[in-house]
Formats: sequence, structure tokens, C-alpha cells
Amino acid sequence: MSYTCAHCEHETEPVRTITEYDENGVEERLTLLCPSCYEEWLLSLKG
Ligand SMILES: [Zn+2]
Repeated sequence: MSYTCAHCEHETEPVRTITEYDENGVEERLTLLCPSCYEEWLLSLKG
């Protein structure tokens, strides 16, 4: 079973899942990322 990356929209296996929050930090949603987009997301957290 494969998933579609939420950022690059390529099918990915394995998939990384992250939890993102809306602006208010209330509503959470599960986002699926491929490994390379996940790396970028980690870097973006660090600033
Ligand atoms: Zn991706």
C-alpha cells in the first residue's frame, strides 16, 4: 500500500506521518510526507 506525499504529491513508500496544527493550535491533522519532504520539514522546524 502506498500513500501520496502531501507536499510533492508523489506516491511514497515508506511514508512519514507528522501532526500539524492550525494557527490556533487547536485543530490537528495528520499529514503524510515522503522521506525527503519529511527531512525538509524537520529542517524547517529548526529554522
Ligand atoms: Zn514529498
